[in-house]
Amino acid sequence: MPRTKIYAANWKMNNMTTETAAFFAAVGDRCVGVNDREVVVAPAFPYLAQAAVLARGKNIVLAAQNFYPAENGAFTGEVSLAMLADIGVRTVIIGHSERRHIIGETPQQIREKVAFAQKKGFRTIFCIGETLPQRERGELFAVIDHQISTAFDDNLTCPLEGLVIAYEPVWAIGTGINATGSQAQEMHEYIRRFMEQRYGRRDTTILYGGSVKPDNIAELMKMPDIDGVLVGGASLKAGSFMEIVFWDR
Ligand code: PEP
Repeated sequence: MPRTKIYAANWKMNNMTTETAAFFAAVGDRCVGVNDREVVVAPAFPYLAQAAVLARGKNIVLAAQNFYPAENGAFTGEVSLAMLADIGVRTVIIGHSERRHIIGETPQQIREKVAFAQKKGFRTIFCIGETLPQRERGELFAVIDHQISTAFDDNLTCPLEGLVIAYEPVWAIGTGINATGSQAQEMHEYIRRFMEQRYGRRDTTILYGGSVKPDNIAELMKMPDIDGVLVGGASLKAGSFMEIVFWDR
């Protein structure tokens, strides 16, 4: 898959029926006919089907924030990829820092999810990023290497097609402190080189995430290795998210 400009909204555990309806009503037809960038929205599970209906004909792609890597069966509380496909969702977020650090998802679980999603032909937004202490100890490149390689090395069912990486420094998520354009560029360039040297993939789409707002999107998107953004807080309302999506118009 060639590098694609992606603007993805991660609503996390926010936005219910009313907010979901208001969001899509406010976006209206703004994304219709737009083909130089892709707009993705990831609502919480109970609202995915509602959003799938509201997004129809609007040129907005829906994504799931999570899934369980099995066909079906006795997995109480979990959601399968077949269920997502059934409502028209074919993109999933994997490895988000909140799932790693709050829910306690392990590198092995993340690896299984990546392989399963890839095997089923789902597009994967794979999140990686270092904590502040890791950055301060100078471990950031080693952390990134480890997160990528534990997910993909010798993962034979994982063809890396449709893979999108989101670099999201943990210290920037939901804190209001974004990485500067040059900090993010340094990491994106590193990740791109790593993907090329290790897996022969130089064209990986790499998003930045962490306190992206209308007033810092231009600085980030002007960087040569930043292909798009994964946005939490500023994506909850259509107004600020559309300002981010169409920052250059
Ligand atoms: C995120 O949820 O991935 C994120 C980056 O959140 P925020 O934009 O709120 O920092």
